Amino acid sequence: MPDPERVQSGIMIQTESHVFLIDLGSGVLQRLVSSGIDITKIQHVFISHFHVDHCSDFPTFCQSMWLAGFNKTLHLYAPPQVDEWSKGVREIGYPYLLEKLDVEIHHLDEKATVMIGNCKITTTPTTHGSMDTRAFKMECSGKSIVYSSDTAPSSEIVDLAKDTDLLIHECNWLDGEYPKKVHTSPSELHEVISKATPKRVVVTHVSPQVVENWETVKSIISHGLDVDALLGEDLLALEVL
Ligand SMILES: [Zn+2]
Ligand SMILES: [Zn+2]
Repeated sequence: MPDPERVQSGIMIQTESHVFLIDLGSGVLQRLVSSGIDITKIQHVFISHFHVDHCSDFPTFCQSMWLAGFNKTLHLYAPPQVDEWSKGVREIGYPYLLEKLDVEIHHLDEKATVMIGNCKITTTPTTHGSMDTRAFKMECSGKSIVYSSDTAPSSEIVDLAKDTDLLIHECNWLDGEYPKKVHTSPSELHEVISKATPKRVVVTHVSPQVVENWETVKSIISHGLDVDALLGEDLLALEVL
């Protein structure tokens, strides 16, 4: 739901040598500007899947990169549907930019590994209805971050997140009756965390009900576990040490 305090999905990861983006939902470009980052430092963008709340700002991001004078290659990593999506969004939406901004598209197979500098990015498929979706693990300088993207509880994500330093996991709705194999509830997230044993958890992709009931949600998620669980907020910045 639209919320002046909360835009859609987007995560920026800064390492010593790179700035990565994972997902660019509506409002993320504006938050990037608010963060103070020089957007022309971003050369690698990952899109987990093509639901609009994860990719709709990519066209305006590209336009802004051009206006900001970005003159390198922008690498876009996404599931194979990216070809069809890109044709519609880029070739019809802003054909003039095709010549002005060099975008190189890389397909992410279900189990892909990408090396960028000294960072290793590994993907695994998620359980998200019929949508082809990737979760990500980024490993850099002996530290790791895992982002679930949109998913129901998944043993593959548990494996990916085993003992990770930071797990960013969705919790779309409260416990209750919902469609199966689409999203994760607090009790289900508790199970994921108890198996994966991450050092820290940030809960993202939350409905207004989850935000309103955060203290209850947090107690369900972390019940009996030695884990620090935070509600993801816009412009929240964490250091992974
Ligand atoms: Zn989705
Ligand atoms: Zn989503």
